Amino acid sequence: WKYIKLHEHAAMGGKRSWSSCASPQELLRLRLTTMRLFLCYSTEAEEFVYFHSNSSVMPAQPGLPGGSSRALLDLSLCVRSHTQYFNFVELPAAALKFMPKPVFVPDVALIANRFNPDNLMHVFHDDLLPIYYTMQQFSDLDLEARLFFMEGWSEGVHFDLYKLLSNKQPLLREELKTLGRLLCFTKSYVGLSKITTWYQYGFVQPQGPKANILVSGNEIRQFTKFMMQKLTYSLEESSSEEYIVVFSRTINRLILNEAELILALAQEFQMKTISVSLEEHSFSDIVRLISNASMLVSMHGAQLVMSLFLPRGATVVELFPYAINPEHYTPYKTLATLPGMDLQYIAWQNTDKEDTVTYPDRPWDQGGIAHLDKAEQERIIKSTEVPRHLCCRNPEWLFRAYQDTKVNIPSLIHVIRQAVKTKPGPRSRKWSGSLYPGKVRDAKCQASVQGTSDAKLAVSWQIPWNLRYLKVREVKYEVWIQEQGENTYMPYILSHQNHTFSENIKPFTIYLVWIRCIFNKNLLGPFADVLLCST
Ligand code: UDP
Repeated sequence: WKYIKLHEHAAMGGKRSWSSCASPQELLRLRLTTMRLFLCYSTEAEEFVYFHSNSSVMPAQPGLPGGSSRALLDLSLCVRSHTQYFNFVELPAAALKFMPKPVFVPDVALIANRFNPDNLMHVFHDDLLPIYYTMQQFSDLDLEARLFFMEGWSEGVHFDLYKLLSNKQPLLREELKTLGRLLCFTKSYVGLSKITTWYQYGFVQPQGPKANILVSGNEIRQFTKFMMQKLTYSLEESSSEEYIVVFSRTINRLILNEAELILALAQEFQMKTISVSLEEHSFSDIVRLISNASMLVSMHGAQLVMSLFLPRGATVVELFPYAINPEHYTPYKTLATLPGMDLQYIAWQNTDKEDTVTYPDRPWDQGGIAHLDKAEQERIIKSTEVPRHLCCRNPEWLFRAYQDTKVNIPSLIHVIRQAVKTKPGPRSRKWSGSLYPGKVRDAKCQASVQGTSDAKLAVSWQIPWNLRYLKVREVKYEVWIQEQGENTYMPYILSHQNHTFSENIKPFTIYLVWIRCIFNKNLLGPFADVLLCST
């Protein structure tokens, strides 16, 4: 055993990426990194084992019963399911004498759980992007590192995509058995950084964008560039022809009049329009086509995550079946509107019951509702909107999600035309990219008091210094007025560099005034130093 390098197990994630999980785990994680431990995996027990050297003492974790030191490192997303946590048992190093001879993994290992390897949205959002950025955080997690997927699934239909992230074949839990009874890691990282995720799927509250999104188009595009290089074609290969891609589904949630839709788009925008599907095209062909498209049109569904390969300036059109409110299902809207993605997002919903085809008799997981009692079936069929719900088995949601739709072409073209006045696509738009405003400068305030109850506050400021050198579509200012000592504030969004506030302004009071600049609706600058204004 003296040959074993007792490694300091580096649990994953920068501080920020852990912040959405419970804090006691973080505490334990910090303790773990400072202790001498080494990690093995018993393929017989199907458990990870931490061996403690003589001098190491496992800290009792505050808040867990009986001083148990079971670590709850998060292997995948921060979902509240035990299967997603990193569980391990502990043994003293001396116990190795009685155990099978260990087989050492020579590669630096990244050990993780895949979330749902058969669904493309989950593959990108929960696995590929997090793996890529976790690897970016640690210099020894390079292309020679080995990925270990411990969730227990088979390869899945998108395994080739996972293989692009490292030169070594990823290993699945099942395969570890063939390597030995006790596998020991010379250097391993456990779990994935969630810093790049933008969506929560509704395990605790109805699905929606994450509260604190840290990823921008820059990180997404660095990742897609890497993937495209790995898919072995050059980025310069693009042709100058402009075209629209309709991404269709061929098994369910169909567009019933797809040929008519394709013709109408081609005519309206005077562009070639092509249709692709995961069933009929290779992944790299789809990436090649999407990465040069001016517009991507698709039914709501996991295939729309491929819009992360669209070029800047392109348009995403997401079609929603009857009774599904686009505002309640926004993973692709959130992606398209991340700062720096520079995509235009348009949602269209079928509002006509005549144009939908339902499948009440299918199995429940394909949207069937025949298993529900009659009254509930009738209620669902009559309902015009699926109420907000938690993930993942809400029968009304599944029933509506798996409808087929005859797209009302004039209504769709109308919605697209409201946003795309001329031609869609990269060449017709110029964006300033994703540069953030600096602080506003020279902020000043002047108070005037009228009588005993009325007062005014005139506030002015100068543009951020970097705005002089940028072309920005829309510049706005956000001003917060907070009475000193109060927790609340009055927020304002303004277009000019001065404003006189009179609403709710009291005489002989001190106000704190916070001002920041906003580019293009979502690029928020920092607040300037707070202004103290006395009326
Ligand atoms: N899928 C597809 N064609 C279909 C139905 C599904 O390509 O006709 C893909 C879909 O894009 C996703 C996976 O199969 O990657 C699972 O689809 P599901 O309907 O379960 O998930 P959703 O698309 O609603 O997220």
